Amino acid sequence: MSLAIINHPACALHEMGPQHPEQPARLDSVAKAINLLSIKPTHYTAPLASQAQLSLAHDPGYVSELFNHSPQQGYLQLDPDTRMNRHSLEAARAAAGAVIQGVDLVVTNQHRAAFCNVRPPGHHAEHGRSMGFCLFNNIAVAALWAIEHHQLERVAIVDFDVHHGNGTEDILGDHPAILFCSSFQHPFYPYSRADSQSPQIINLPLASHSDGATFRTAAKQHWFPALEQFRPELIMISAGFDAHQDDPLAQLNWCDEDYGWISAEICRIAERSTNGQSKVVSTLEGGYQLDALTSAVAAHLAELS
Ligand SMILES: [Zn+2]
Repeated sequence: MSLAIINHPACALHEMGPQHPEQPARLDSVAKAINLLSIKPTHYTAPLASQAQLSLAHDPGYVSELFNHSPQQGYLQLDPDTRMNRHSLEAARAAAGAVIQGVDLVVTNQHRAAFCNVRPPGHHAEHGRSMGFCLFNNIAVAALWAIEHHQLERVAIVDFDVHHGNGTEDILGDHPAILFCSSFQHPFYPYSRADSQSPQIINLPLASHSDGATFRTAAKQHWFPALEQFRPELIMISAGFDAHQDDPLAQLNWCDEDYGWISAEICRIAERSTNGQSKVVSTLEGGYQLDALTSAVAAHLAELS
């Protein structure tokens, strides 16, 4: 059973200005990594998430606002870092729709794993606002879809983007069916709290300039025992690659092998907790150095496939 790769043409048409680091070329960097896979994946075009699906995670008023104010030309500024052009609404709906489709394909055993090569990313988008390049919280929408549509009782989200998944924590932090494991440079954008007391949230704040070995030690000590005990029926990954040593937006020093390592460990835990069925859905978050993005995603997908 091959890896499912999900994307949508609108994701390449969403752009926020010529100097913006969250640029369409990122998708090409990921596509290069997909082409390196020795076992060829199966490609899907994402459906567009509906307002009702997006409202699983978001204030319906916020969802309608984006649907109703999509610009016909130029940009609509949503926050200091985030803009919409005339393709952004379709791209954002496709990005959330891709992760929903990934859940559908994996939960119904059509694939053991799915990767969504989509943008805009999602993990900074909160219940009622866009933030940090993110319009809709793709992974939160799809996790709630897995719980409400497929009746899953235990969904784990692992977020190894260099930035804290504040939006995912905002939306899902106290949900009894969710275990949220997030690693991030700290203190750093988005400057959200790192000391959540909820047993459902396992945050790994990492000092700037720390390396992959530091992350591995922390993940083994805090994430893996919690994941093993939780026994997730599905593991979802907010796959950001901006902790890479070559990434210009942050100051962690992970290398490609660290992405391969954490991906292999997540697959191992998923395999064990589902009696061999696996069930992993991963979606692109950050990662802004285009060559490092290719090599780190290649390491990630080699394990998922
Ligand atoms: Zn990031």
